[in-house]
Amino acid sequence: MDFHFSPEEEAFRQEVRDFIRTEAPEGWRDGLGNDPARIWQFEREWQRKLAARRWLALAWPKELGGYGATYMEQLIFNEEMGRNRAPSFVNMGVAWVAPSIMLYGSYEQKQRYVRRIAEGEDIWCTLYSEPGAGSDLASLQTRAELDGDEWVINGQKIWTTYAHLSDHGWLAARTDPTAPKHRGISTFVVPMRTPGITVQPLVNMADGHEFNEVFFEDVRIPRENLVGELNRGWYHVAVGFGFERTSIGNPAGARRAVQDLAEICRRTMVNGRPLAARPEVRMKIADLWTQIEVATVLAYRVASLQTAGKVPDAEASEIKLFAMELNQRVSNAAVGILGLGGQVRSGPVAARGGDFSYMYLRSVANTIEGGTSEIMRNIIATRGLGLPR
Ligand SMILES: Cc1cc2nc3c(=O)[nH]c(=O)nc-3n(C[C@H](O)[C@H](O)[C@H](O)COP(=O)(O)OP(=O)(O)OC[C@H]3O[C@@H](n4cnc5c(N)ncnc54)[C@H](O)[C@@H]3O)c2cc1C
Repeated sequence: MDFHFSPEEEAFRQEVRDFIRTEAPEGWRDGLGNDPARIWQFEREWQRKLAARRWLALAWPKELGGYGATYMEQLIFNEEMGRNRAPSFVNMGVAWVAPSIMLYGSYEQKQRYVRRIAEGEDIWCTLYSEPGAGSDLASLQTRAELDGDEWVINGQKIWTTYAHLSDHGWLAARTDPTAPKHRGISTFVVPMRTPGITVQPLVNMADGHEFNEVFFEDVRIPRENLVGELNRGWYHVAVGFGFERTSIGNPAGARRAVQDLAEICRRTMVNGRPLAARPEVRMKIADLWTQIEVATVLAYRVASLQTAGKVPDAEASEIKLFAMELNQRVSNAAVGILGLGGQVRSGPVAARGGDFSYMYLRSVANTIEGGTSEIMRNIIATRGLGLPR
């Protein structure tokens, strides 16, 4: 098995690395303080710079605004982003909305939406989850009813990441309440500034405003905003989950976190000896490092399946499950080993600029977003191993 990259791939890696070091050098975030508006402005500008190089939608065909990169180049790009702690804004438009529109949308929809996503013009959110429908998403109750040439939407979504920042929403709504639950759902494009939409913030326990509640009250959208076949939306959503999970399960950020933890432990002196000299610390870090290598191989496997033209299914769940639980193990270890330095978010003792503390709180959601760990295990057991449901 050859895990080496070709000279062309290594050259591409260097190009990405140089770009990040120029446009988002180490510590880029420190200069912005904790002001969400300034961070968002920086990340938006970052997206535009990537788009100008056609790197935002790296693996898409050139005619759709992509770079025409291979999946291996995409993987290299993701690795460098994580390794160099570049802005980590998840562009859902690129990651799973546009790929779904490319598969199921009409020619006009592809022309209208996909290129603008690749060019960094439009930000999208995903309107799936509801208060009574998360893991069992097919139970969703938000209705879309046809009235003349318009769909009228009523209902509520929850946990909608970036709804407050988005131009468009990718909506799953019930269009046939009499059909079995998986067969009465359709997918739509919803302009987020349409009258009748109310977005209310939800603040997570890391004190960040990422997700929201979204309420629909007689929201009217044009008939042509239906994407794909009527009442076949569940199948579009299910395919999109594969794109979502492979894009979430990137271990490069955790790799860098373990490297930084090792370095901090090497430098931090306790009773005249480096923290890293303690056997339990060394063993913990070595254990995490081994798991990082495992996650990396899982990520390479997904990329090689995609390169071979296959759609990862249980493999997407494997990397999502393993990499997200690993994030939690890494931040747990950092907070435990570093004590106060790992626990505070700011001030002179905050290790890694307070990032381990943030990671500890934020990573709790890693095993929920994009499908919980239990659901990932169910998929691996049934679709991967063929065990009974
Ligand atoms: C940070 C974050 C961002 C998110 N962003 C979005 C977004 O942008 N758009 C969107 O639509 N949604 C989003 N979500 C919602 C996310 O998809 C759901 O939270 C997730 O699917 C779980 O659904 P739930 O919260 O309703 O939990 P539930 O489905 O109620 O699950 C509760 C518990 O029961 C377990 N469970 C449920 N069913 C089974 C089963 N069959 N077998 C074993 N265990 C089971 C679960 O694993 C979990 O532990 C986000 C969530 C988070 C945390």
